[in-house]
Amino acid sequence: MNRDGSRDLYDRALGVLPGGVNSSVRAAPQPYPTFVQKGDGGSVVDADGNKYVDWVMGLGPLLLGHDLPESVAAAVQRRASEGPMYGMPTELEVEHAEFVARHVPSVEMVRFVNSGTEATVSAVRVARGYTGRDKVVVMQGGYHGAQESTLVEGDAGNARPSSSGIPASFAEHTIPVPFNDTEAVTEVFEEHGDDIAAVLVEPLLANKGIVEPRAGYHETLRDLTEDHGALLVFDEVITGFRVGGLACAQGEYGIDPDLTTFGKIVGGGFPVGAIGGKTDIMEAFTPVGDVFQAGTFSGHPVTMAAGLETLRYAAENDVYERVNELGARLRDGLREVVAERAPEYSVVGTDSLFKVVFTRDGESPRNGADVARANVERWNRVFRPQMRDAGVMLSQNQFEAQFVSAAHDEAAVEETIEAYRECL
Ligand SMILES: *Cc1c(COP(=O)(O)O)cnc(C)c1O
Repeated sequence: MNRDGSRDLYDRALGVLPGGVNSSVRAAPQPYPTFVQKGDGGSVVDADGNKYVDWVMGLGPLLLGHDLPESVAAAVQRRASEGPMYGMPTELEVEHAEFVARHVPSVEMVRFVNSGTEATVSAVRVARGYTGRDKVVVMQGGYHGAQESTLVEGDAGNARPSSSGIPASFAEHTIPVPFNDTEAVTEVFEEHGDDIAAVLVEPLLANKGIVEPRAGYHETLRDLTEDHGALLVFDEVITGFRVGGLACAQGEYGIDPDLTTFGKIVGGGFPVGAIGGKTDIMEAFTPVGDVFQAGTFSGHPVTMAAGLETLRYAAENDVYERVNELGARLRDGLREVVAERAPEYSVVGTDSLFKVVFTRDGESPRNGADVARANVERWNRVFRPQMRDAGVMLSQNQFEAQFVSAAHDEAAVEETIEAYRECL
């Protein structure tokens, strides 16, 4: 496979983009990233014209794959041609917010922003403003975007920033706990309950895993937050409108969070984020309340059109049945391959998410630390490049989820299972 085009582009990129990329994970693939020329249904075509089955799917936003259905493409083109944005409100923002509030059980009001990071920043700010408290509890191995309050590592007694450039004082207000550990979070609430503004949790860990919640874990978080006057914030930036369909993971798990953050699919492939929740909390945002929040591009008409038409299309065309079915087929096939070739590995995922974690004992990971102990070097240096050469593009590092889209088909699933069989 000739990949000289990608190599040369990477070489050029290193001169003008730090690390050759605009988002760190893109530089993870060994020995250099694949530069994309274009998408094509469930595949991507690289700078050298090679075509791969694509399970990156934009890191999650592309529920429908790379070819937008006619209704979505037409809405996007119309909005772009009517002047891309105005800085004044449009009917589209109201319609999209109505759609989200109608389908997501806990959501009464929505504020649209421009990225998942912006959504979690605003959610943490409004949780602090609403409760008058500073501390937030997060999951070890959870990801809530590139923001100061959640880029922490360590444990409840010893939290520190996980990135240079963040004052240690931010981490003083953040308490990391292990996912799925009811005792650890109960102890944290016994000690700090009156100071905790919110628990911020992905319904399942999708950026370090995939790790699914154990029975009762989210119920424990719901009870603890309610008992102590803290907010439960579900970060559904990945799971939103993917796991549990239009009702999202909270609908699937039957949990009623106070706030939800969205991103990715809700913008149909354009830059987006959103915070949704109960009216009294959402109205703590300016201009009603006094928690400042604003954005020049927020509620961008092209994004609103893409997101709304994508979700409408999904609702009207059995998209979730289709992608979940393909996801189940993939996971079943991969379980057979893993049992045969590498029984120490674990097949994880649900709905349209899948992954083979290179665990060392065949046990499904229970938390982020279990995932971190996987054989990352083998995955990154040997396995992933081999899969790529076999025409299958997997997530860019071992820890991120892989995504099935409506543009994938049975042939792509079979090809992928066979490639795993060859490369494992
Ligand atoms: C992707 C992601 C974010 C950050 O969203 P961006 O749009 O990349 O800023 C936040 N939380 C979760 C769970 C995510 O997967």
